[in-house]
Amino acid sequence: MKKLLLFSLCTSLITTSFAQKLSYIVSFPNIIHHEAKITVIASDIPQKTATFRMSRSSPGRYATHEFGKNVYDVKAFDRTNKPLAVNRTDGDVYEVPRNDGYVKLEYTLYANHPDGTYAGIDETNAHFNMPAVFMWVKGMENAPIDINFEIPAGKTWTVATQLKPIGTSGTLFSAPNLQYFMDSPTKLGELIWKDWTIKNANGKSYQFRLALEAKTSDTAAASFAKKVQTITEEAQAVFGEVPAYDFGTYTFISSINPWVKGDGMEHRNSTMISLPTNFDGGNYLLDVFSHEFFHCWNVERIRPKTLEPFNFEKSNMSNELWCAEGFTQYYGDLLMTRSGFQTVDEYMFALAGLINTKENSAGAKRFSPAEMSRHAVFVDAGVAVDKSNYVNMYTSYYPYGGAIALALDLELRSKFTNLTLDSYMTALWKKFGKPEQPYTIPGLEGVLADLTGDKQFASTFFSKYVTGHESFDYKPLLAKAGLILKKANETKAWIGNVQYKEGNNLAIASNTVIGSPLYNAGLDVDDQIITLDGKPVKKQSDIEAILKDHKPGDAIQVEYQHRGNNKTATLSLIGNPAYSLVTVEKEGQTPTADMLSFRNNWLGKKVK
Ligand SMILES: [Zn+2]
Repeated sequence: MKKLLLFSLCTSLITTSFAQKLSYIVSFPNIIHHEAKITVIASDIPQKTATFRMSRSSPGRYATHEFGKNVYDVKAFDRTNKPLAVNRTDGDVYEVPRNDGYVKLEYTLYANHPDGTYAGIDETNAHFNMPAVFMWVKGMENAPIDINFEIPAGKTWTVATQLKPIGTSGTLFSAPNLQYFMDSPTKLGELIWKDWTIKNANGKSYQFRLALEAKTSDTAAASFAKKVQTITEEAQAVFGEVPAYDFGTYTFISSINPWVKGDGMEHRNSTMISLPTNFDGGNYLLDVFSHEFFHCWNVERIRPKTLEPFNFEKSNMSNELWCAEGFTQYYGDLLMTRSGFQTVDEYMFALAGLINTKENSAGAKRFSPAEMSRHAVFVDAGVAVDKSNYVNMYTSYYPYGGAIALALDLELRSKFTNLTLDSYMTALWKKFGKPEQPYTIPGLEGVLADLTGDKQFASTFFSKYVTGHESFDYKPLLAKAGLILKKANETKAWIGNVQYKEGNNLAIASNTVIGSPLYNAGLDVDDQIITLDGKPVKKQSDIEAILKDHKPGDAIQVEYQHRGNNKTATLSLIGNPAYSLVTVEKEGQTPTADMLSFRNNWLGKKVK
């Protein structure tokens, strides 16, 4: 987006005057009921009619959201504070005929959903994801922005944001344009601040800040900040440097308390993390920090072309989220392991999850990671009331992409000398991230070809696993690290994974999955299982007990009710296809020196 900032500045020099400006004032006259008063002053509006609108999408979130529903009491005034007519022309669009290029618009915002996508306001804090809060003016996307937060009387709140501070008040900030402003979530509250610096090889230092909203002691916060610092240093070791953060600072804006909604959302020079739990400083909290921080390279700067420029009126569809999110998911966990906050055994469990996603989920068996990325416009915290068939046609690009990252990491480590996924990420950083050139899938393939010197390898990998959906043989490559991949329950009878609802009968509460015995026998969501193998079924544990007496290959009768009609069908039992992954040590074997060396190069600490 840095490239975009420069571009914006150039166009504003050519097509607009410097007087164009948006100024926001935020105050809290009814904070107990989750309301804020937002004032936006637009100066030198270029159009005859000023079109104010709420956004319908948010940077880092890929589905469409209706932020306009929480805005009301919209009023407009001219320079002399005389009321102007406001015409609501769409749910989230308000038009104001301007007099002399100046319009002051005021509205009330209701906000009671503090997370990475929405906003929350109460007596203890104000939590703003900007697109959920601020109207903007069409045609003024390149105008500079300033914003003043009026801290409620009696509060000693501080403000955490990646916006550029103006002066030393701590409440006045600026953004060069709308794209940067909307990418800059802001938290006001009783925050505990901790900071550290990281130096790049060129001698330049960057400040890292943890702004923590949590009920905890200063000592506990300091010890947690140390752990976050360890992650930032391990992440720096992957790329050899941290990005040149705008204004020299990266901020972890984090709320860890029971009143927020669980989320983590990356931004260019900050992340907004909300974890709904009492703060205990535990290592398990760090996983989100690890993932979100990796994004300051992967997606914020190594950025898919499909996300540029970010469209605030509808979501951008992307083909590349398997890399932007999936590779980040892979590294989030890997950095936790390298940092020592997760054991190798815990990491094996996470990797088995990735492999099961790729090899055993219906979506991944039918569609490519690139195709799955395109579903983000519906699935990324998208809201709908009608049923979908996701279990049979969609696999999340997070673990699916993570499985591709694992495959590529293992291939590079096994087939090439001194090449790893770290080398590939560094090559992507140099080619696309540092110069801020957005990438495409062919661009990613080109970098792999250049890195390996093997065009055929790159082309085969991408056509099989990125734009294709072939099975990947993880087993022999994992064996090099002394890891055993196996179908641990293959000899146990299995009818498929579904959710059940226990009641008078046992109801199937989720779609049955293609290829599973339940699906093949014609059972579907909402069907009520009455008997299995002639025995009554009331609870999920009844099914498990009945299956224990059978083996894969057996056929058993199921009696069930479908829309009020009793039916019977035959279930042809198969073995449970789920993979597990363990170290050879867990199986009582001794790893060779080569295995331990492979494993240590991959999972061991990189920061000396
Ligand atoms: Zn992410």
